[in-house]
Amino acid sequence: TYSLGPKIRSWDGDRRMWLRKNPGFSSRVNGKPRVMLVTGSPPGPCDNPIGDHYLLKAVKNKIDYCRIHGIEIVYNMAHLDKELAGYWAKLPLIRKLMLSHPEVEWIWWMDSDAWFTDMVFEIPYRKYEGYNMVIHGYPDLLFNQKSWIALNTGSFLFRNCQWSLDLLDVWAPMGPKGPIRDEAGRVLTANLKGRPAFEADDQSALIYLLISQKAKWMKKVFVENSYYLHGFWQGLVDRYEEMIEKYHPGLGDERWPFVTHFVGCKPCGSYGDYAVEKCLKSMERAFNFADNQVIELYGFRHRGLLSPKIKRTRNESVTPLKYVDQYDIRHSAHKYS
Ligand code: UDP
Ligand code: MN
Repeated sequence: TYSLGPKIRSWDGDRRMWLRKNPGFSSRVNGKPRVMLVTGSPPGPCDNPIGDHYLLKAVKNKIDYCRIHGIEIVYNMAHLDKELAGYWAKLPLIRKLMLSHPEVEWIWWMDSDAWFTDMVFEIPYRKYEGYNMVIHGYPDLLFNQKSWIALNTGSFLFRNCQWSLDLLDVWAPMGPKGPIRDEAGRVLTANLKGRPAFEADDQSALIYLLISQKAKWMKKVFVENSYYLHGFWQGLVDRYEEMIEKYHPGLGDERWPFVTHFVGCKPCGSYGDYAVEKCLKSMERAFNFADNQVIELYGFRHRGLLSPKIKRTRNESVTPLKYVDQYDIRHSAHKYS
């Protein structure tokens, strides 16, 4: 069967030794685990040129979040393994980054169509101390309903450890393009509720694996739904004005979603489940909703959630530091709760 590479068995010990020998590359930074956010897009230009513009906005959005929160970011456009093209490309990439960056504690995969919409919210890493994978989902949908949308692989965290390498090894074999992926797709559709007939995708394969090998894996998987590590865009994007009126960033849940994920929108490709216009308009709203939180520090705001144009929100000052104290998201005075 297909494999991601030579079987690695001693990663925890090897990595621990490496960290001891390289104290300048600590797996913790400023009291928090070192995190690397990984995202990417296909090697070539989009079929529809406007798609490239939205990929650019999507990466600006991620750069802003990561800069504010001290997270390293990797953008990949290559296919590391041609057999695992498309949505499966994240698997060899995550493995490669884990092995090449032993100083990184958590690898955080995020789809190009998943956007940060709460620039203040931070992942509660302490909560995940005994866990190796954090993914948005619902245990009931997973184990009782066996639903193909019980979990979402558009935004999830993997600890850099042997357990994660082992999981990647058993997850990947359904991925190779061609007859293997096609046949696996039939197995997944037969076993998962609501799944249309199509080739095997990484999300369905993970769900199927965790259902069928629950005892082996679930002790270390944190199924998170107390905030939107992934949030389905419909039902969120039309409520941003209401959120602004009633709540504030930092909540991360349905009151102010951490991530808005444009599942089913394919502005870069030629097919999608939703009208391109609806998708682009919704992405524009998500972008500006998030960008307002970023540019508040500089004294600006978008003219509306659909406008790339901005306006001043306050006058220049000869004592600008008061604005830093008041508006910098990283400043303790700004932290709510
Ligand atoms: N992706 C990539 N290279 C590719 C195809 C996809 O890096 O050649 C990434 C991209 O970030 C995308 C994610 O994989 O958002 C999931 O792929 P999919 O085709 O499922 O797109 P989505 O459902 O997110 O639109
Ligand atoms: Mn996606």
